[in-house]
Amino acid sequence: MSKHNYKINELFETIQGEGSFTGQPSIFIRLQGCPVGCSWCDTKHTWEIDDSLRIPVNDMLTKSQEDERWANLTPQDMLHVFKDRGFKAKHIVITGGEPCMVDLNPMCEAFEAEGFSCQVETSGTFEILVSTDCWVTVSPKVNMKGGYAILQSAMSRANEIKHPVATEQHVDDLKALLKKHQVEQTPVYLQPISQKERATKLAIDTCIKNNWRLSVQVHKYLGIE
Ligand code: SF4
Repeated sequence: MSKHNYKINELFETIQGEGSFTGQPSIFIRLQGCPVGCSWCDTKHTWEIDDSLRIPVNDMLTKSQEDERWANLTPQDMLHVFKDRGFKAKHIVITGGEPCMVDLNPMCEAFEAEGFSCQVETSGTFEILVSTDCWVTVSPKVNMKGGYAILQSAMSRANEIKHPVATEQHVDDLKALLKKHQVEQTPVYLQPISQKERATKLAIDTCIKNNWRLSVQVHKYLGIE
């Protein structure tokens, strides 16, 4: 039984709205902490780990809005939460923040032993420490404020690459990255950076031209978390 502790900002059940698992009921575990510094980040409240903002598990589970507070949980604690809250999903999405700042193997092992499948969503800037069966979504964040490089090991481990796009420059950056890291077979999902028509049209046209897939953040169209 793993006694490994994780700093959790949010834990909830919803529908995965992005990438290969779109439509899959999923338990989302959002880890606190990210130094990558993407300007458009929609989870900036996860960036800092402030020890004075540690809260009891129940307070974290009943947050009514996004904020920087977090709770410490072991994988076993999380399994108890899934049961107590009556979660039915059997797929777990480990996200952040940047979840790969920490070793996720103990979490994956504990969940897989109970019949859950795991997926991690990462920026590709940290070593990915997960189980062999964990599905890895790399959303490469190039030239961000934090100054982290995309790792070859992350690009090689990826089961899917998910890239936000708003401009032609983003598409060119992605192509250069795929070439540099010799990514040829891994499915590529383009994700419009917003629900605006221009970004969406660019993503559609680029997907058709390159035989890439479109990921439209279904949860944002549905107005769910
Ligand atoms: S890597 Fe993710 S959490 Fe971190 S700044 Fe970028 S978008 Fe936000």
